Amino acid sequence: MTAPRFKRILLKLSGEVLMGQGQFGIDPATCERVAREVKAATEAGFEICMVVGGGNIFRGLAGAAQGFERASADYMGMLATVMNALAMQNTLERLGVDTRVQSAIPMASVSEPYIRRKAMRHMEKGRVVIFAAGTGLPFFTTDTTAALRAAEMNCDALFKGTSVDGVYNADPKKVPDATRYEELSFDRVLVDNLKVMDATAVALCRDNNIPIVVFNIRDEGTLEAVLRGEGTSTIVRNNPESA
Ligand code: UDP
Repeated sequence: MTAPRFKRILLKLSGEVLMGQGQFGIDPATCERVAREVKAATEAGFEICMVVGGGNIFRGLAGAAQGFERASADYMGMLATVMNALAMQNTLERLGVDTRVQSAIPMASVSEPYIRRKAMRHMEKGRVVIFAAGTGLPFFTTDTTAALRAAEMNCDALFKGTSVDGVYNADPKKVPDATRYEELSFDRVLVDNLKVMDATAVALCRDNNIPIVVFNIRDEGTLEAVLRGEGTSTIVRNNPESA
């Protein structure tokens, strides 16, 4: 198989990635490691925009289970993503990467509002745009936000940074001989309910023909390697050669 090459990508990071070894919140050392990955990729000429989750701080579903009204809990979750976006922005800028945060919930004193054409312009100028506050709508997730923004920003692929190096036929942390898929079709992911991203996000990527690349963001140098078509990952796309 010829490895696909992508120029413009949307990088989705779940909030959990940012908490490092901790159980909650933001770990500055982890933010810096991730930021170094992004910096290396931009220096190699790739165009990057990002969506960060909020699960390390607050998730709407968990809040609803504790008695909060679901929509309110979702807004709390979206605000959590803003904190993560600011943490990533701050860390990237300390490393000399030019960034902009755009929030789907207007918040004039902390970020720009989400304006697609402005975000496009930022990317053309080589800035990393970080999309905060999800879609701005309750009952959605940041996975779906990532698929939506990837489509809006004409991204070649959605890169999902996780703590495993792809999609497996069983949990590789529990099943030692679990095998990793090299490629998968969107339909297979949906029918077999493989844990890649939520179903809305997967369907959105399928319908807009945006491949999803699942890779391990915790291993140093992986983002750039996978972008170059060299690292370990699973690619979910329409009409894969296998699977
Ligand atoms: N959220 C929402 N609408 C969106 C995106 C996110 O309501 O468009 C809320 C939802 O409550 C979610 C929380 O924000 O649980 C944090 O996002 P997510 O769970 O996707 O974060 P991740 O799992 O990626 O850390």
